[in-house]
Amino acid sequence: MTNIKENLYHIQEKIHRTCLRSGRDPDTVRLVAVSKKQPVEAIMEAMAAGHTLFGENYVQEAQEKIERIDGARWHFIGHVQSNKAKTVAALFDCIHTVDRLKLAKALDKQAGALGKVLTVLVQINVGEERQKSGVLPEKAEQLLTELRAFANLRVRGLMTMPPYKSDPEEVRSYFRTLREMADNFRDKGCFAGPESYELSMGMSGDFEVAIEEGATLVRIGTSLFGPRLA
Ligand SMILES: *Cc1c(COP(=O)(O)O)cnc(C)c1O
Repeated sequence: MTNIKENLYHIQEKIHRTCLRSGRDPDTVRLVAVSKKQPVEAIMEAMAAGHTLFGENYVQEAQEKIERIDGARWHFIGHVQSNKAKTVAALFDCIHTVDRLKLAKALDKQAGALGKVLTVLVQINVGEERQKSGVLPEKAEQLLTELRAFANLRVRGLMTMPPYKSDPEEVRSYFRTLREMADNFRDKGCFAGPESYELSMGMSGDFEVAIEEGATLVRIGTSLFGPRLA
């Protein structure tokens, strides 16, 4: 059986040590526990161990869980279809995966209807992979500029899923590129809250490298919860 409490402790320890080793304040990195395809009981176990921030990828699955669980905060980290904007805007505190104007427009409208300001990140396809979501790097500045028009969206940073590599050192350059892009966008005033920004990057296999390169949100699933259900 997966010992979620123990895994959580070890992951938090690694986050802490990586921060200290790279001269960062551990309070600037948050763990998003990726609970997609994990049962409610697993989420409850993490909550019993003191964790409250979870990431989900699929709208319907997330909705069913969120209705059954009190006291957690939820981030959406999957691909959002524009026709799901209403549900996503209602259920989540932060959407990591805004990658096109049409989706931003739909989220802004729904957030407005809910009287809510929605925190969003712009997903960048840093590896320029054909099959992946995310705006291409050369189109990112235009999208960020367009997002300023939306009063109900608070654009706080960037997110990426780099190409898969078995050696985490091989993804370092993608994380670094994302940080350099974010520095540039911050200097141009693209983010709400100009003092800081969020960088959502790093998963089970590469989160330490991501933290060394500036991640503020690490999205960790399998090394916390064990293998996902099919
Ligand atoms: C599933 C998923 C994760 C978690 O991946 P693990 O390798 O299980 O840690 C992180 N980010 C996104 C966008 C995901 O879809």
